[in-house]
Amino acid sequence: MPPRRPERTRAYPLPMAAPLSVAAAQARILGALTPLRSERVPLAEALGRVLAAPVVSRRTLPPFANSAMDGYAVLAADIAGATGEHPAVLPVRGESRAGAVPAHGLEPGTAMRIMTGAPLPEGADTVVRHEDTDDGRATVAVRVAAPHGTSVRLAGEDMRAGDEVLTAGRRLRSGDLAACAALGEVWLEVGRRPRVAVLSTGDELVEPEREPGPGQIVDSNAVSVSAAVREAGGDPVRLGIARDTVDDLRRHLEEGARCDLVVTSAGVSVGDHDHVRDVVEEMGSLDLWRVAMRPGRPLAVGSVRGVPFIGLPGNPVSSQVTFELFARPAILALQGASQPHRPRSVARTLEPMDKPEGLETFHRGILERDADGGPPGVRLTGAQGSGILRSMVLADCLVALPAAGSRVPEGTLVEIIPLG
Ligand code: AMP
Ligand code: MG
Repeated sequence: MPPRRPERTRAYPLPMAAPLSVAAAQARILGALTPLRSERVPLAEALGRVLAAPVVSRRTLPPFANSAMDGYAVLAADIAGATGEHPAVLPVRGESRAGAVPAHGLEPGTAMRIMTGAPLPEGADTVVRHEDTDDGRATVAVRVAAPHGTSVRLAGEDMRAGDEVLTAGRRLRSGDLAACAALGEVWLEVGRRPRVAVLSTGDELVEPEREPGPGQIVDSNAVSVSAAVREAGGDPVRLGIARDTVDDLRRHLEEGARCDLVVTSAGVSVGDHDHVRDVVEEMGSLDLWRVAMRPGRPLAVGSVRGVPFIGLPGNPVSSQVTFELFARPAILALQGASQPHRPRSVARTLEPMDKPEGLETFHRGILERDADGGPPGVRLTGAQGSGILRSMVLADCLVALPAAGSRVPEGTLVEIIPLG
């Protein structure tokens, strides 16, 4: 190995501004981002992408009135008063099947066999399920007085031409794609997927494929960060591991600056070999934010060569939780998402939860369904240390406890962030 250059020395402690709340830090990060340009993608590639333009219906759905059941198309007036004891008996004239237009309309005083999804014949206003009849072929005995409109899907009851069906900024789900397909929208304008540089820093790290030697640990952060980038709709670009030297960090960050966002982990504390701060400052700008939260301090935010930069803490749980709270919304915002934050819900604590006074705390929680239909219960995954990977494995939510207070008693309603 070439001899190391002497590193710059710094005076500690680092000057830091007053602590920020999580919400304030999120707002600052998002406020500094500009969404990437949009692109057109085929429907098959649109899942999880963020719509850049609204989808406005140019069709009427359903396109024609049709039957919601297998049965008989009738006029409600012709079966008024029908009961099991006194059925209405009607002659059966023809049938309407899915995929074809019936040969003729319905004459008053008659019934037409009809299948689910088949066009309602002209003149009919009601469908009687075949279970409510004797299923007759020549004549049918209707045993119920189905009111007008029963089992009929009206044309346009779902969508009408001109309806805004999907709003810009929405992250597309499978059901959205079905609606687009039905409307004939087979190409969609979506935000470009951000290329996110993922860089781990630390002399102790080895790639997951390698067996760690004495004093070494596996770089697990690059794995969680890359996967989470993908989950947020980004395209992770693995930069590998930068050693704790100014030169190596500079080299890696220079490469990272070719992406749309740079996310690093570790090296931003005040340890003797934490140089991320110096190098990022030299290549752009950096704020070291004291976010009043646990786990996960400090958070480094800035830019390298004009590309937004987020420096996550090194401890695996801290890096995962801060990614969730700060990097994930940033990646979604770059795609133009109108709601970059995961929706929160509530749960009732099943055990007392301790936390540091003054810090918003994100414990790892396990949800339990409430037998009486109330809000779910939540208990802790066990030890909550910022290095306990199992706490994230076991968790199905983060328990978001407010900054004030140091103990949340059992039975308290608290906010949770479900982890998908
Ligand atoms: P640092 O911020 O560099 O002081 O790192 C804080 C802690 O996180 C140390 O225990 C590191 O060994 C650990 N750590 C740093 N980077 C990673 C990583 N990529 N994967 C797993 N643990 C890490
Ligand atoms: Mg380190």
